[in-house]
Amino acid sequence: MKDEIERNQGTHGDESRAWFECDDGWGPLIADLESKLKVLSPDYTISQVKENFGGLRYYANVGDVDAETSKRFYDLIHEAESKSFEVCECCGQPGQLSRRGKHGWYKTLCSTCAERMNFEPVREAGTATP
Ligand SMILES: [Zn+2]
Repeated sequence: MKDEIERNQGTHGDESRAWFECDDGWGPLIADLESKLKVLSPDYTISQVKENFGGLRYYANVGDVDAETSKRFYDLIHEAESKSFEVCECCGQPGQLSRRGKHGWYKTLCSTCAERMNFEPVREAGTATP
């Protein structure tokens, strides 16, 4: 039996980092997106890639292309961003938007990862009946 106390080191007042260690689940999603973007615009640049409210946010500049290419470029990004809400951010298994209790922190997780990190599945917001 091994303790995992060492994991609790690094108190920077930001406990969110403590369990943010396994966010490789979107790796394939992002890699797939980038390979498609490169085809459309080899010179595109990435501004920022992050997670926001449980979903992937991918900011990129398409570069010097025509309007049609630009539209397809950003369509691909939007597609990947929506898809991220169905993929566990941790392990890449099918997931769903989950929330961590009192902090109201959102992540897209499979049931296994959600349980491990103390998250609970969130029902569709916005369409819920009162
Ligand atoms: Zn998972």
